[in-house]
Amino acid sequence: MRETFDAIIIGAGVIGTAIALGLARKGLSVLGVDRLPAAGYGSTSGSCAIVRPYYSTVDGCAIGWESHFYWRDWAAFLDADDERGLARYVNCGCLRLKSPANGYLKSTIGLMDEIGCPYEEWSGEQVLERMPGVVLDSFGEAKPVDDPSFGQPAGPPLPGGVFFPDGGYVNDPQLASHNLQRAAETAGARFRFRVAVTAIRTTNGRVAGVTLDGTEDVDAPVVVNVAGPHSHKINTLAGVVEGMNIRTRALRHEVCHVPAPTGVDYENRGFVFNDGETGVYIRPEIGNHILIGSEDPPCDERQWVDPDDFDRDFTEQWRVQVMRLAQRMPELGIPSRSKGVVELYDVSDDWIPIYDKSDLPGFYMAVGTSGNQFKNAPIVGEMMAELIEACEAGHDHDDDPVSFHLRYVDRTVSLGFYSRRRAINRDSSFSVLG
Ligand SMILES: Cc1cc2nc3c(=O)[nH]c(=O)nc-3n(C[C@H](O)[C@H](O)[C@H](O)COP(=O)(O)OP(=O)(O)OC[C@H]3O[C@@H](n4cnc5c(N)ncnc54)[C@H](O)[C@@H]3O)c2cc1C
Repeated sequence: MRETFDAIIIGAGVIGTAIALGLARKGLSVLGVDRLPAAGYGSTSGSCAIVRPYYSTVDGCAIGWESHFYWRDWAAFLDADDERGLARYVNCGCLRLKSPANGYLKSTIGLMDEIGCPYEEWSGEQVLERMPGVVLDSFGEAKPVDDPSFGQPAGPPLPGGVFFPDGGYVNDPQLASHNLQRAAETAGARFRFRVAVTAIRTTNGRVAGVTLDGTEDVDAPVVVNVAGPHSHKINTLAGVVEGMNIRTRALRHEVCHVPAPTGVDYENRGFVFNDGETGVYIRPEIGNHILIGSEDPPCDERQWVDPDDFDRDFTEQWRVQVMRLAQRMPELGIPSRSKGVVELYDVSDDWIPIYDKSDLPGFYMAVGTSGNQFKNAPIVGEMMAELIEACEAGHDHDDDPVSFHLRYVDRTVSLGFYSRRRAINRDSSFSVLG
């Protein structure tokens, strides 16, 4: 007997499980499928899971700030038990350094004022007092470590930073996905793991279902591509790439995991910390460790890869990122053994995601999350459910974009912002900052 659902979600990462929840809460029968053994085992498992309100666009900021409230109220949002416990939101706040290159954060402050998001401007003295272990030397733009001026002061010390209290990180991104899976199951969704979608089937010009492992057909009038770094492959299977102005591809990234300098209690006193001059961002990790990610400075070559064939070992990039942070934290040791994760971003042409329908009726996508959408997953689940419900009821989202109300920050956004057909958004940072 062939099974039939109202919707099939391809991918059970943090975004796929959130969309399964959103659709199940609207009363649809939902099947989530993933080729890995459990929810959140794909790129979500390597996420730094930072929650922050600053992006380069006003909609990006509003949604990023809104996400803080979902994580703060995580148990109430889920309204379901998980035998593994719940992921924890560490609301430590985020600090960004002001520098000449980022215009001393004037545009970020303007965006925060526009949406009403709280922030505090800290002088250099306040940064040194409150952020353990850092110096405020100016290094100019990020550079390769073999550049003769690497680590050399490039101007007067930085004047301070901006602190955002509504931010932090989620301690276990894989567990957060599992929480969403359990909440979706409580709302009636089903999940199957260790099965790969190998074909998207169509009938009479609309989607009819998927084929699993080349052998089993499952039917549904709605199929959603949430395949993370495999998004382009799934869109190719569905034959919808030609109808997209924005494309996606997989980008390899290394995240370093190092002990905090001796005497620095970064785990309990530290914040999420963005430093455009050294080109890294960091956050606390258990065991008084520091996670170091890259802000993708222009001097680093981008490693576009096949998501089914890439190097999972650390390279020289790992040492580069640690040395970059060591400029800002001079007492940081450079461990001889590399620890951390090597994972993939699913990057769109303008580093802003695509949350949209496609030219194939019934086929939708939540892709191109560009290393910056973990935080937004619970909102994306609700947004996609609204969008799919409207389109399936006959609404022309391409012509008249569906809007979505952000209930905590009380602001309405047009989902046309995330259209596959948009022109490249030139306001974007074209980096992980979105
Ligand atoms: C190193 C790193 C650091 C990051 N840091 C942050 C951060 O600090 N803050 C933030 O907000 N965001 C961050 N992100 C981004 C964030 O983690 C992602 O946007 C998010 O996890 C994407 O979730 P997803 O569900 O779309 O994708 P994934 O978690 O990749 O899930 C996709 C799933 O699809 C499955 N799949 C693929 N093809 C098939 C198929 N044919 N059949 C069945 N299943 C299939 C895969 O197995 C996978 O499980 C980071 C990402 C990375 C990689």
